[in-house]
Formats: sequence, C-alpha cells, structure tokens
Amino acid sequence: MGILEGKKALVFGVANNRSIAWGIAQALHREGAQLAFSYASAALLRRVAPLAEQVGADFIEQCDLSRDDDLESLFAKASAQLGNIDILIHSVAFANRDELNGPYYATSREGFRGALDISCYSFTAMVRHALPLFNPGSSCLAMTYYGAEKAVPHYNVMGVAKAALEASVRYLAADLGPLSHRVNAISAGPIRTLAAAGVSGFKAMHREFTELAPLQRNVTIEDVGNAAVYLCSDLAAGVTGEVHYVDSGFNVIGVAAPSRG
Ligand code: NAD
Repeated sequence: MGILEGKKALVFGVANNRSIAWGIAQALHREGAQLAFSYASAALLRRVAPLAEQVGADFIEQCDLSRDDDLESLFAKASAQLGNIDILIHSVAFANRDELNGPYYATSREGFRGALDISCYSFTAMVRHALPLFNPGSSCLAMTYYGAEKAVPHYNVMGVAKAALEASVRYLAADLGPLSHRVNAISAGPIRTLAAAGVSGFKAMHREFTELAPLQRNVTIEDVGNAAVYLCSDLAAGVTGEVHYVDSGFNVIGVAAPSRG
C-alpha cells in the first residue's frame, strides 16, 4: 500500500512529459494518490490528456492562472467533481523571453507585473480558493529555484518572483498552520523543460552544474517527485514553511572545487 493511499491531489503545471509537475504526478500516483489536473491553455490539452489517462485521472480542466474568473470556475468544478482534496501542487511559472536575457535592470514594468502575477501571486490565489476543499492535514507545494537567493545570470525577474514566492510560502504556512494544513516549496536544480528553455544560457549552466554539485549529476523530475511525496505525506506532518532543496547539494557549496580528474 502506498503512503498516499486515500489522498486526492490537484496538480497545476503539466505541459508535457518533461514537466516537473509530471514527475510529481507520477510519484504521487505510484504512492496511491488519486490525481486531478489543471492546464494553462486549450493548446496543451492534446499533450496533457494522454498523460492524465496514464495515471487514471478524469478531472482535466483548463485554467489560466492570470484570470480570476478561470480560478473561480476551476475550483467550482473541483468542488463539484472531486469534493475534498488533500494535496495542492503549484508547478507554474512564466516570464516573457525577453526578460530572461541581458541585465536585470532592463526589466519592463509589464514584464515584472506578469512574472510576479503568474509565478508568485497565483500560488496565494490558488491556496485561497482551495481552502474550503481541504481535508484536515492537507499539504500545498510550490516549485522554486536558487535564483531566489543568489543572482543567477539571466534568471532576472524570475529570481525576484521566486524570492516573493518563497516568502509567500512562509506567510501561507503561518496562516494555514492553525488549520492543520502545511505549505512548503521544493527548490530544484536545473532540469531541461519548456520553461527552462526560455532562460538564456540555460543549456551551458545545466551542463556545468554536474562539475559543481556534490552529487556530480543533474537532478531529474523523478527526484523532485520523490521529495514531493515525502512533503505531501504524513511523514512530513511536522514540516511547514520550508524550502527543501532537490539540487544534488549545489546550494551548500561556497567555492568551486579545483577541477576534478
Ligand atoms: P514547464 O514549462 O513544464 O512548466 C511550467 C508550467 O507553467 C507549464 O505547464 C505552463 O503551462 C504553466 N503556466 C505558465 N503560465 C501559466 C498560466 N498563466 N496559467 C496556468 N499555468 C501556466 O517547466 P517546469 O520547469 O516543469 O516548471 C515548473 C515549475 O518548476 C516552475 O515554477 C519553475 O519555475 C520551477 N522550476 C524549474 C526548474 C527547471 O530547471 N526546470 C528549476 C527549479 C524550479
């Protein structure tokens, strides 16, 4: 019997089979959770529907997280079809491509607003809408990156959005703790996905990561999925407001070691 048997999870952010949200969904499914999916736009349905089918999900609903009316109708449908839920996954981010190269100071007002809205505020709005559906001891999880803490070339406004997202995790944890619900984030190392492809220089950074990280390998969506299982299960019943690293240990290194070999 899986450790998530009897739990229902609503997952936002599957775009294709490389998405971190898909790694999380597969791991939750393996541990017995019943899954439901929301995707961003109609064009994605032909990719998301077959994946949802693979894990036996029949709730697959579109929701553009920049739109309040979409959020409202999504959660009305979730309430009607799923009843209560136990796990909420936010694996969503967006910034215009032209904000993810060049210097951070070139960020436009519009670009800043859009990135913060979709990559940060949507998590807060999502949690608020999900609250009436939560069973006792529910768990929320967001995805973040090291660029929230340190300046990473070209990550720019997305780093600022992730810093705000990590702060949101702490405020939401404080709000929801007395209701017995938990809120955490996973900070993943670089993974080659659709979103990552938008960051200028990502490929080289992904390659060089294995030289610097203690485990000398890149992380996978399976690694992230397995950590998500822990954080969303009762094994982590005493853990909330945390940013948990799944990054081959990259974040603990202060100075690059002399080249190996
Ligand atoms: P991805 O492109 O597969 O996923 C991003 C998702 O965000 C997509 O499903 C996309 O449809 C969704 N999205 C964008 N705008 C939206 C909107 N308006 N409404 C609803 N959904 C919207 O890429 P990914 O790398 O799996 O990204 C998932 C999360 O992981 C993001 O928060 C990302 O910042 C984070 N992350 C990624 C990496 C990495 O290296 N890939 C590392 C750390 C954290």
